[in-house]
Amino acid sequence: MSIDLAAYNKLLDELQPRNVRLVAVSKTKPVEDIKELYDAGQRDFGENYVQELVVKQTQLPDEIRWHFIGHLQSNKIKMIAPFVHLIHGVDSMRLLEAINKEGKKIGRRIKCLLQVHIAREESKFGFDTEEAKKAVEQVLADHHYDALELCGLMGMASFTDDHLLVEQEFKTLKRLFDEISAMFPDQQHFNILSMGMSGDYKLAMGCGSNMIRIGSMLFGSRN
Ligand SMILES: *Cc1c(COP(=O)(O)O)cnc(C)c1O
Repeated sequence: MSIDLAAYNKLLDELQPRNVRLVAVSKTKPVEDIKELYDAGQRDFGENYVQELVVKQTQLPDEIRWHFIGHLQSNKIKMIAPFVHLIHGVDSMRLLEAINKEGKKIGRRIKCLLQVHIAREESKFGFDTEEAKKAVEQVLADHHYDALELCGLMGMASFTDDHLLVEQEFKTLKRLFDEISAMFPDQQHFNILSMGMSGDYKLAMGCGSNMIRIGSMLFGSRN
């Protein structure tokens, strides 16, 4: 299975006028596929599994910005901390604390997004909206967290054909993003709203997303 470059170029045409960044989600896909998209100009790639990410990172160019978009376990932070560009799925204070600790240890400020639970489904991880506000407040107010760079929010909508529901969920996240941005106007770094996947990115962009995470549309379906 190789890359659908026509789909890639068409997608870029949709994104670029709106200043939306594309994270190409390459989980389970071989390095050859990633290289193909890299050669077409793509630099941001997303992975869900730590071990897989670490192996791929050593086999591919250093210019790649690796996004970790999966559920991160505290004991694996150290494996990606030295090189990861952005951790999307930070879903608890405990994890923030652990990332901060690792960042201090290696002398690197680590970029994070807080994952907010917006879907109806029980299984999705994340802060609820009130918890997310408190977490941002806490991290920004306390110099203890100086190895973290809070760059914004990430969310996943319900997996459903109900477009109205998905739109509502994305709008909830956008509202929260705007609220937090207004609460901390001098936080220039807090500017990423990561929402939208192959099936719902158009809706997400319509709701104000500025970073989408696209896998199957570019790499083909996963097993
Ligand atoms: C797999 C995954 C994606 C990409 O999903 P597609 O439907 O293949 O585009 C995006 N975000 C997260 C968090 C994922 O786990």
